[in-house]
Amino acid sequence: MAKYRVNKNTQSPNYDHEVHKEGCVWWPTQNYVDLGEHSSCTTAVAAAKAIYPDANGCKTCSPQCHRG
Ligand SMILES: [Zn+2]
Repeated sequence: MAKYRVNKNTQSPNYDHEVHKEGCVWWPTQNYVDLGEHSSCTTAVAAAKAIYPDANGCKTCSPQCHRG
C-alpha cells in the first residue's frame, strides 16, 4: 500500500487534477486532498475522480494511470 494525494490546483500542460504517490518529486505538500492508502494508482485515481472528475494519474509516479 502507498499513500496518495490529489493536488487541489490544476497543473499544466493538461490542467487536470493530478494524483501523486508518496515519494514522487511532485508530491504535494500544500493544497492537496489526502486520498489515503491504495495498492495501486487505479483505485487512487478512482477516489480522486469522486472529488475531481478530471483527476489524472501523474506521468512521473503513476504513468500506468496517466492519460495524455
Ligand atoms: Zn507524481
